[in-house]
Amino acid sequence: QAGTALLLLVAVVVAALPAPSLGWGVDGHLIICQIAQGRLSDAAAKAVNELLPSGAGGNLSSLCSWADRVRFRYHWSAPLHFIDVPDNVCSYSYDRDCKDEEGVKGRCVAGAINNYTSQLLTYGSSSLSPSSKSSDNLTEALLFLSHFMGDIHQPLHCGFASDRGGNTIDVHWYRRKTVLHHVWDVSIIQTAEKDYYDEGAGEFVDALNKNITGAWSDKVQEWEECAKNQTACPDKYGSESITAACDSAYKGVTEDSTLSDEYFGSRLPVVNLRLAQGGVRLAATLNRIFGQSKA
Ligand SMILES: [Zn+2]
Repeated sequence: QAGTALLLLVAVVVAALPAPSLGWGVDGHLIICQIAQGRLSDAAAKAVNELLPSGAGGNLSSLCSWADRVRFRYHWSAPLHFIDVPDNVCSYSYDRDCKDEEGVKGRCVAGAINNYTSQLLTYGSSSLSPSSKSSDNLTEALLFLSHFMGDIHQPLHCGFASDRGGNTIDVHWYRRKTVLHHVWDVSIIQTAEKDYYDEGAGEFVDALNKNITGAWSDKVQEWEECAKNQTACPDKYGSESITAACDSAYKGVTEDSTLSDEYFGSRLPVVNLRLAQGGVRLAATLNRIFGQSKA
């Protein structure tokens, strides 16, 4: 049928278009979730295991990019991957900035982290009173939370509105044409894996874990903490991201800049830190959620 053929053609063309960048690449999310899963309390590990679909084999990191794969099916979720701040304002405020393009409050990555944290806090309560059984899908809540905790640590996921977090800034990564946002989602991590880690995310995780228990060990408790006994505290992470975006990601970059060894060498430490913090904090948040839900 001509109609079917046309539909197929459209589908093929759409699939071939570069996907809009909506988070760390697959490896960034995998690294964050592997770090996190190794730090879960017994209660949190048990809950995560129960909530993961059976196909995941108990491996959270295999599904940490799920939220990017469903962004077309769940159109409403697209604005939940990032925060836009006003141009050249190197700070973030929930009240000012956490909204979507229509101005609906709370529709940003920080609001999404708060929302899915609240949903997951109902875990274990539905069996106590079947009448108050939650309609929330807690498996999806876990996968969204695990993904968005990663995204909010990517500095350009809290970036300037007019350049869409560096998505409209064309650059060259060494000899390859790309955009600044993609350099931070994917390129720096890929180059590090190629140069230092035998192409693999596994060795990258090992190296970061060594720093978490070694060079950074005196900072880890501060990373984990939330003020005022909050279960989740994404605003702190968003503020850190826009600061890193201004001080590091955007710094010295203009349209058509070529970014190579100097940029890679000076920015990789920032990427390392943000991946480690993302993993440590995802675990700390899940431990607070599922620790509290066990009576
Ligand atoms: Zn994302």
